[in-house]
Formats: sequence, structure tokens, C-alpha cells
Amino acid sequence: MPSGARVPVFENTFARDLPDMFEPWAAAVVERPELLVLNESLAREVGFDPEWLRTTDGVRFLLGNLELPGIQTVAQGYAGHQFGGFSPRLGDGRALLLGEVIDGNGSRRDLHLKGSGRTRFSRGGDGKAAVGPMLREHVIGEAMLTLGIPTTRALAVVATNELIPRDEMLPGAVLCRVASSHLRVGSFQYAATMSHDHVRRLADYAIERHYPLLADADDRYLAFLDAVMDRQAFLIAKWMSIGFIHGVMNTDNMTISGETIDYGPCAFMDTYSPTTVFSSIDHQGRYAFGNQPHIAQWNLARLAETLLPLLHSDKDESIRIATGAINLFPARFEHQWELSMRAKLGLTAEAPVDTGLFHSLLTLFENHHIDFTNGMRALSDVVRGRREREHALFDLPLAFDTWARPWLDALSHDPRDANDIADAMDAVNPAYIPRNHVVETALAAASTGDLTPLDSLMDVLLDPFHERDGLEEYTRPMPSDWDGYQTFCGT
Ligand code: AMP
Ligand code: MG
Repeated sequence: MPSGARVPVFENTFARDLPDMFEPWAAAVVERPELLVLNESLAREVGFDPEWLRTTDGVRFLLGNLELPGIQTVAQGYAGHQFGGFSPRLGDGRALLLGEVIDGNGSRRDLHLKGSGRTRFSRGGDGKAAVGPMLREHVIGEAMLTLGIPTTRALAVVATNELIPRDEMLPGAVLCRVASSHLRVGSFQYAATMSHDHVRRLADYAIERHYPLLADADDRYLAFLDAVMDRQAFLIAKWMSIGFIHGVMNTDNMTISGETIDYGPCAFMDTYSPTTVFSSIDHQGRYAFGNQPHIAQWNLARLAETLLPLLHSDKDESIRIATGAINLFPARFEHQWELSMRAKLGLTAEAPVDTGLFHSLLTLFENHHIDFTNGMRALSDVVRGRREREHALFDLPLAFDTWARPWLDALSHDPRDANDIADAMDAVNPAYIPRNHVVETALAAASTGDLTPLDSLMDVLLDPFHERDGLEEYTRPMPSDWDGYQTFCGT
């Protein structure tokens, strides 16, 4: 390590405490790397001098090719239900955990690579990743962050200057990702393939790392399940309030921390429709927009199954306990979703409002093919008494006004000034989201070496609630020549 460089101290509690949950492994050596993106503020947050990360040694570190003190690279094991079918051994087939650091807030964060070469978990895969999808992790992760949604984040994307075979030859890249951990529902499923004791040790580790207040709780494993459920209810409600479709909610892509992970075939919905699917491999619509809360509950039920032996010594009793817990999920989700929707409509908790109002608005959006983001954003204009802005919602005088009457009536009891209510709505209804056609265009340019559209997009996304002149192109829904837009997994 170069003297004087500010780098964090690395720890390896995962490797130390859970010896059967990984395979030690080294990253593939990259001969001609080129740093494409460095997230400077995140670098500082986790204890790096960003300037050092730009040096030759820094870039080697970002590829797993330079071992800093304390680093112990491992490929994590996990299992998972993929589109409903169980694979007992998935794991990091093209990824490695570098280690953990304690960030400026005292929180433990993982540093993790993706695209770092084959491992014992690679099965038929080449262990590689392409520039486009790794930059996509960066774009969507930062967008999610500024939209207030828990997420993993890209620290850096490094081009490898190697071509990797996909449908066509694509430029390769390695992503260095920061996450509060990489424990997944699939990690528990993997532990469960070994023994009850492995599950217990993993649960104890997860509790200590993510839910330390539960360490001394009675029924700590039930409390743990309940707490994971709570975080997922919050997370999925946030996704639903912003039109986000994860696209591949397999159990190996659902975190125990409650962060969104693995931005593969994800996409943001334009025209509101619960049946929206973008992923090319989601033929049944399993991970369609409107199905996400249901799938979250299904995944949590898989987590609960792994915990059964820890919940009670009697099997029937443990099933009864777990089922009782999992059945609470829909109400938890509904509660979080209503909180989000209420804020989006400018309503305070005191304003008694029929939740039918939320559903009837969405039905209106669906029936009239309203863009979800723009439609929600336009509502604050109504509160301000301004409808001059061209908007599809306001072309529906009868349907919209019928819907709006009880809403405006509820708002009329709010002592705040109308402009304050409208401002509060604008603070939760983004003007800018990473629209699919804009993201794809920026990634295509970046893959050929032109990072300008990506930089411009990032500038817009870093301040999503503040409308600025000259950025109208970022608010337009997908042009019709993009009809049939699909996202691809196995990226
Ligand atoms: P993902 O779709 O990225 O969540 O990955 C699902 C599983 O497939 C994980 O076990 C990955 O490690 C594995 N995988 C995906 N792509 C590759 C690849 N190119 N080489 C090896 N394993 C891969
Ligand atoms: Mg994954």
C-alpha cells in the first residue's frame, strides 16, 4: 500500500464467523484496466481518499488485484428460488466479497466486486460482466438513493478492456459495490441445506449486524423474521410508490438488510399498469409491477421456512408461529404504502381519507394511460390552482374532477397554505426518474467510450425533486418507437 494514502481498515466478520458460507477465492487479474466511474462522495463515506482510488494501485484495488491489509476475498455461497424453482447452490459465480469497513456513521458496509472472474460457484458462466449493466447498477443505485429508497451503491466501475461474449461481443467491466451486507434470503436457504446449526449461526450473525436491538429479545428468531418483514414491507412500498420494477425478485436477490440489490433487468414504469413487465425472461409476469408485494411475501415465507427449527422444538407449532408472522405481511405493506401515497397526495395523517382514493386514482391512471411519474407530479399543480401545464390528466375534465373532489375536500381542512402543501408533494413526487430509454441511450454511448450522456443523466438524477428548465427531455415517457422495450438478465 502506498504510504500516506487514506484507505479504510478492512475487517472480515463474515468470513470469521461463518466459515462454511464461502469459498476463499482471488479475483481475475486485469491487465489494462480503465476507471470509468468513481463515486467520490461514497468513497469518502467509506474511508477512502478518492484521489488514491484513481491511481494505478487504487484501480488495482477496485478490481481485487491489490490486497490491502485485512482483505480476504471470498465468494459467498447462497441458494435461491429463481422464478419459483429452487437451486441449492448458486453463490457468487462472478462476484467476490473484498471485506467490510466501518463507515463514517459507524455502520459496517461490505465492499464487493461483480464481474471479477469465475469462482467455484460459476456453474456454466464466464464470471464476467459487461460495461453497460455495471454502469446501470451505478445509475439506478444513485437514483434510488436520491429517491429515498434503501439501496446498494456502486463505488466504482472499471472497464477491463476485454471483450466478453454475450449475444454479441461486449466490453467487460468490474463493479465495486457497497452494501450494508450481502446477506440474502438465499443465504439462509444455503445454510439450511447444511444444518439447523448453520442457520442459527447465520441468524445470530444477521441479528448482530442488522438488528442488534433484538439480540436479547425473547423469541429472538421470530423477532428477527418480523423485523426483516418490516424492512421489506417498507422497501417494497417505496418501490411501488415510485413505479420501480425490480424484475428478478428471486430469493437470492432479496436482502436481509432491506436494501434493494442487483439492478439487472429492473426498469421504471412509464404508463401506469400493474401488469407491467420489462424483463425478457419473465414470461409469466411473476415479477410484474403489481405482483411485487405478493412475491416479497412469498420470499419471506421461504426465509421463515429456514427458521422453523429455531422458532419451536415442535414442528407443527413452529409452522403455526411462522405462518402467523408471514400472514401479517400484507397489512404491514399496505400500511407503508398508504403512508407513501398519503404523502404523495399532500395529505397529512390527520386528514381522514378513504384509501379508496388512492386506488381510484391509480385506476384512472391505468384506464387513461397516464404516465405514473408525470401524473403524480402534476397533482401539485392542481393544489396550486394551475392547470395550464399541458398534461394528459387535465384533458380528462370529468373523470379527473370527479376523482379530485374528495381529495381537494380533504386538503381543504389542512391549515397549511396551498403552496406549502404543493411544495411538500413535490418533495416526494419526483420530476425525474431514470427513464428506460434515457438510461439505455446513455449506457449505449458509454459502452462506446462516450460518457457525456451518462454524466448529464447523473446530474439530473442526483436532484430528482427539483424541476429545472431545459430538462424536459428527461420527463418524456418512452417514445412509441421503443414499444416492446425489454430488459435482459444474465447481464
Ligand atoms: P444475478 O442474475 O446476477 O442475480 O445472478 C444469479 C446467479 O447467477 C448468481 O449465482 C450469479 O453469480 C450467477 N451468474 C450470473 N451471471 C454469471 C456469469 N456471467 N458467470 C458466472 N455466474 C453468473
Ligand atoms: Mg443476484
